[in-house]
Amino acid sequence: MPSPSLYEIHDPRFRSLVVGSAVLEELYSGCRWAEGPVWFDDAQQLLWSDIPNQRILRWVPDGGVSVYRYPSNFANGHTRDRQGRLISCEHGTRRVTRTEADGSITVLADSFEGKRLNSPNDVVVRSDGSIWFSDPTYGILSDYEGYKSAPEQEKRSIYRLDPVTCALTAAASDFLQPNGLAFSPGETKLYVADSGTNPDDTAPAHIRVYDVEGTHLTNSGVFCHLDEGRPDGFRLDNNGNLWTSGGHAVHCFAPDGTLLGKIRIPQGVSNLTFGGPRRNRLFITATQSVYAIYVTATGVQRP
Ligand code: MG
Repeated sequence: MPSPSLYEIHDPRFRSLVVGSAVLEELYSGCRWAEGPVWFDDAQQLLWSDIPNQRILRWVPDGGVSVYRYPSNFANGHTRDRQGRLISCEHGTRRVTRTEADGSITVLADSFEGKRLNSPNDVVVRSDGSIWFSDPTYGILSDYEGYKSAPEQEKRSIYRLDPVTCALTAAASDFLQPNGLAFSPGETKLYVADSGTNPDDTAPAHIRVYDVEGTHLTNSGVFCHLDEGRPDGFRLDNNGNLWTSGGHAVHCFAPDGTLLGKIRIPQGVSNLTFGGPRRNRLFITATQSVYAIYVTATGVQRP
């Protein structure tokens, strides 16, 4: 039986997605705000951001944690492109970068229509090589996670970067603050977390879903509402279940938006990714720590 203190079962289907005897392991603690986990299967390593400390950290099994990059320009979300290169969002420089095989850094996007981006937050790459990222204002609201500054972009958008022409398109802009994003297994839909709040606290804590039509996102709809916290980063498994951050938990939603269950985490969760050799281990960034837990689901993202 799954531990009642670790798992919340909201739907019987959740029992088949988690390992009853699994334990939640704390791999590292000592961040100010951990975010943006990305797994490298070829290198058997996890990278993530410690945003306020200007660090990207690296964990290897049995090898502990080291500093991968400092200063990181207040890097936040990461992913890998189809060639396995690291793609990163940076608050401090308000740009999206690619780290080449030789370690040099290529700027992929830092402005739209002649004005600086707000503060790129999270990023995913589609099989066609296009790079999709969110651009809320969190990284310029204070000097804690970037440099306090006025936004130049009127809207908080999801952008698509063309892999051939490098043209940047605002794919959707109907958000308070777009944050985490991920494709459905067939890449016909893109899910986007809107983590924005409003003065009277009536903004819904939800994840939206769009149809991917060429360079744009259409048919904006609500995929799920969270009953705890606000959604930040999330990932999908091979069966289309969506695993998201929200308060002190990882929430798992079925493809139809039904809450299946939660994994309780001791600290506020910001983001997660599937990793490990079988891609069945959830790596969870949560405030000061990084946690890991084995599940039966496997992540869909590649590489
Ligand atoms: Mg985020």
